[in-house]
Amino acid sequence: MKALVLEKVNELVIKDVAEPIAIGANDVKIRIQAVGICGSDVHYLTHGKIGHFVVEKPMTLGHEASGIVTAVGANVKHLREGDRVCMEPGIPQPQSRETMAGFYNLDPDVQFWATPPYDGCCSDYVVHPAAFTFKIPEHMTFAEAAMVEPLAIGMQAATKAQIKAGDIGLVYGAGTIGVMCALSALASGCAEVIVVDVVNEKLKTVSSYDGITTVNSLEQNVADIVGKITGGQGVNVIFECCGIEPVITHICDHVAPNGTVVLVGMPVEPVKFDIVAAQVKEVTFKTIFRYANMYPKTINLISSGKINVRPLISKTYKFEDSLEAYRRAVEANPSDVKIIIEME
Ligand code: ZN
Repeated sequence: MKALVLEKVNELVIKDVAEPIAIGANDVKIRIQAVGICGSDVHYLTHGKIGHFVVEKPMTLGHEASGIVTAVGANVKHLREGDRVCMEPGIPQPQSRETMAGFYNLDPDVQFWATPPYDGCCSDYVVHPAAFTFKIPEHMTFAEAAMVEPLAIGMQAATKAQIKAGDIGLVYGAGTIGVMCALSALASGCAEVIVVDVVNEKLKTVSSYDGITTVNSLEQNVADIVGKITGGQGVNVIFECCGIEPVITHICDHVAPNGTVVLVGMPVEPVKFDIVAAQVKEVTFKTIFRYANMYPKTINLISSGKINVRPLISKTYKFEDSLEAYRRAVEANPSDVKIIIEME
């Protein structure tokens, strides 16, 4: 079968690799239909590593995927051949402490697609545990289903935030994950979400959604806008999706007393942070790492039309044009939210 393989830094090829043949009793085999390009895929391509995850041998890229079930293992009950599905890319050890305790995303031995040394899913076929494979409805496109993965991160953040109906949210960063957090916050009950960035092209796509107010903090005063929308109280929930120090240091500036801050962005280095500013408001801090048990809810939100991810699919490429798709992703065009590779 064909796969999109990162041979080494800046060397991406489409090549023949061994097709997975053996299917475990609890696995399904899937013909991949769509794969989203993630910032992490691009970073492995251009830098060969993320933190302590280093690409030391050729690795198939991609972890945001959907497809069609072509074979099922003997124990699999909820899926059958021909089902349209999307897949959760991280496979934890079933009996790790973390998995047993219900936070399987924190299992240190999780095998996550396209995170070295594990191959990703941008290939004709994958074999995957049925427990991490989810049926999607007929009316959901495969490209939309590939968006479930990044949206699940927004849903993890919104769920951790314990949003109450009518809350006002604020998101720092209008990158893909910032947009996912904003849409998840609205779907989880926020009456309005303010999205702050410094690049107008990034704010443009998300500004088309009802309930979202965008702010370019270089051109407008965030405090004024937050004050106007919240009657001077500050927002109930903040999602930090930039991971940059100047934002994190002052992350409590616009949060209401007793509000919540969810740290989603990952700073490359430890950062300075104003603790007293948090204490005087008794701010609750939450962090997230990927997601757990978010796929079914996320699929429901897209399926019902409550979250429309279609405006976020900036461009789709055919599998044979994958290198071009990655060239565009590396360019990081600020108006691109998600680029998707369609396998057939
Ligand atoms: Zn991703």
